[in-house]
Amino acid sequence: MSRRRQIYEGKAKILYEGPEPGTLIQYFKDDATAFNAQKKGTIQGKGVINNRISEFVFTRLNHIGVPNHFIRRLNMREQLVRQVEIVPIEVVVRNVAAGSISKRLGIPEGEPLPHTLIEYYYKDDALGDPMIAEEHIACFGWANNDEMQYISSMAIRVNDFLCGMFAAINIRLVDFKLEFGRIWDGDYSRVILADEISPDSCRLWDMTTGEKLDKDRFRRDLGGEEEAYQEVARRLGRRCRGGDNAVNRSRKPSEKRAADRPDCRAGPLGWG
Ligand code: C5P
Repeated sequence: MSRRRQIYEGKAKILYEGPEPGTLIQYFKDDATAFNAQKKGTIQGKGVINNRISEFVFTRLNHIGVPNHFIRRLNMREQLVRQVEIVPIEVVVRNVAAGSISKRLGIPEGEPLPHTLIEYYYKDDALGDPMIAEEHIACFGWANNDEMQYISSMAIRVNDFLCGMFAAINIRLVDFKLEFGRIWDGDYSRVILADEISPDSCRLWDMTTGEKLDKDRFRRDLGGEEEAYQEVARRLGRRCRGGDNAVNRSRKPSEKRAADRPDCRAGPLGWG
């Protein structure tokens, strides 16, 4: 019998009741899905890596004034987060054409967009998360105008930060998805960033080779998913140690020794 109450199970994560009111435990699974869960699989060790990468990114976003739900990492697969009332909108930020925009509008993959695009999708699995306009959001009351202004400005800020962060490790941030949630204080609420930021929710291409280092490897049957996720973690200095199905397969013996050390080490950028 589980000691914790499960609040919600999604495709890649489970949310449990947290130790204090207003907190949740976010558990990262190895399960991978694509095309609205029509394709299902497992990426060994993904949960461990995404937990680390998301911890790293959310901590830094907090430092630059992007309030978010992350409180602290608890163990290899779990982090303590603030409980939010999720805004039912997926916010996609695009710098380069790829994926659904290429398919929808016939823009070749890899073509830089004239400027950063923000798109909104209604979070509804049964409907296949349809793309929506801001007018739909206002019309159906999914978020109010102030919230949308805040969400769009935060999305641009997150994009600026992430573009720089990934460029420093020779990765091009093609696009990514964000989710936001409300926290309540009496009758008042404010919106904060929630969910995760990881190779599951971003397109990340090596700047030199163009190699895909994200979930497209799974979506498109390219293989090497574990190695790609591990590579992103390694470049961020978040290489993850073994245990609990952690990815611990390094190609070079020198890397193997580093991976065996008891925690993630500072990487090429020296980010502790
Ligand atoms: O599929 P599409 O091109 O619209 O995806 C844009 C970005 O949003 C990609 O980085 C993808 O990984 C992410 N995304 C996501 N979850 C979804 C839809 C898209 O993380 N449900």
